[in-house]
Amino acid sequence: MTHTTNNSNKLASAHMLPDAEGFFGPYGGQAIPPHLKVIMDEIAAAYLQIRETQAYQDELTQLYQHYVGRPSPIYFAKRLTEACGGAKIYLKREDLNHTGAHKINHALGEALLAKHMGKSKVIAETGAGQHGVAMATACALVGLPCEIHMGAIDVAKEHPNVVKMKILGAKLISVETGTRTLKDAVDSAFEEYLKDPDNYFYAIGSVVGPHPFPMMVRDFQSIIGREARQQFPEMTGKLPDYVVACVGGGSNAMGLFSGFLDDEQVKLVGVEPSGNGLGKGEHAATLTYGTPGTMHGFHSYMLQDKEGQPDPVYSIASGLDYPSVGPHHSYLKDLGRAEYHAINDDGCLDAFMKLSQLEGIIPALESAHALAWVMQEAKNLGSETQVLVNLSGRGDKDADFVADKLKL
Ligand SMILES: *Cc1c(COP(=O)(O)O)cnc(C)c1O
Repeated sequence: MTHTTNNSNKLASAHMLPDAEGFFGPYGGQAIPPHLKVIMDEIAAAYLQIRETQAYQDELTQLYQHYVGRPSPIYFAKRLTEACGGAKIYLKREDLNHTGAHKINHALGEALLAKHMGKSKVIAETGAGQHGVAMATACALVGLPCEIHMGAIDVAKEHPNVVKMKILGAKLISVETGTRTLKDAVDSAFEEYLKDPDNYFYAIGSVVGPHPFPMMVRDFQSIIGREARQQFPEMTGKLPDYVVACVGGGSNAMGLFSGFLDDEQVKLVGVEPSGNGLGKGEHAATLTYGTPGTMHGFHSYMLQDKEGQPDPVYSIASGLDYPSVGPHHSYLKDLGRAEYHAINDDGCLDAFMKLSQLEGIIPALESAHALAWVMQEAKNLGSETQVLVNLSGRGDKDADFVADKLKL
């Protein structure tokens, strides 16, 4: 291993997890066949080697600054705070990033890694298209062919993102098998990947999947937490009492949390979608209502049936409807280091409108779940309490849907 720099120490992140096999306590790992394990181990080795090199770190840092527009600011939401009548509410503005969300942070990291590994093509699946657009953007930038697999139903539904991916030069594969949604897109993308895993790179879109992805994606997103850990005391004189983020796969939350894991007085709160109700297929609150299980190559909390098959899931925010969750979150939950709560569709919509009309900031429906929890708790927490909410993305993508839903 080459020399260790300060930056790489920080990238390695707090608590030095996962272990060498990719476990966070009992969660994570590589529940995959041996030939795939070989490939994942190669990616892990390449990543661990490359992240120590100054050239890779400099390249990523430069891109974060001059391309993404980092650091993203922290903003005190004064009118929202007054309206909620309690805790002071601050926003980490990931919505201001190029492409409008936190996903660009790991998309750039993955695309650069693929480039350094000499891969000839990046493959990814996408549900609503957010990960697809971020990967298409990053691949255009580093000059790598990009192939995005998307269920035919989602292709029809998410027209703006489909068009963006095409404009950015990605090859879009509309998947016509099965239910023609995200799960089938994953299967299709994976099938393509297995045709030539030595030359292709499969870019996972959250802190999920087999090791090393939960570690790598967290490390890329940890820029959020590192910035916030420095910015917040500069702004207010102390650390936040709470840091709060929405949890789908869990990458934006893990990115923010990782900056505060060692600050035991800072409470970490993840907010999941309880959708329309608590019946099967009505929500996607995995940590709140799930049990440990294995899918997509890793062990974690999961919404599952008696046979261990994933339950159907739903959320008004398509970025949050995943029946498993990042293994690091499962471990933090069991340790009691982080707590997880759920917010339903109505709470989400209310927060979406309130932030828009009180602050002139239209949040992503995903991020609005985190906001909604804070708005609900603000009074109980009291005005001495400082809460930092991750505004993981902007809501332009959701504007038409909300207008329709609320008959605006
Ligand atoms: C994809 C997405 C999410 C959910 O993904 P995580 O991995 O849980 O962060 C949240 N917010 C926005 C804006 C997204 O696009």
